Amino acid sequence: MGNIIRAVCTCGLESDEIYQGIGMRFYETGSRTEPAYCDSCGIVVGRDMSKSYSKCPICRRKVRFYKEGVEESYVEKIPGLATDGYLNEKEQWHCPRCKRDTLRFESMGLWD
Ligand SMILES: [Zn+2]
Ligand SMILES: [Zn+2]
Repeated sequence: MGNIIRAVCTCGLESDEIYQGIGMRFYETGSRTEPAYCDSCGIVVGRDMSKSYSKCPICRRKVRFYKEGVEESYVEKIPGLATDGYLNEKEQWHCPRCKRDTLRFESMGLWD
């Protein structure tokens, strides 16, 4: 369950749709997709945060998560609340393409 979100920036960056949140098999696999970015390629992608090393699909370097450091326990208790964070918590995020804090997440809908 979670949000379908997309990253957009005034410089023209647009990510693909990211199915952000936890999967149905979360309690077995711990799999949890969160937006991450690659500063070298200037892209935003959805990646499985439960993996210790998530690679950029283009350059294969490690990507950085926007939510690096969010406590797992918080997410397990109230997954619904945690997944809303990108839209409400902060208005502007780091853009890997223009390197300014002008990136925003748009809601495309919900999935379950
Ligand atoms: Zn890259
Ligand atoms: Zn930008």
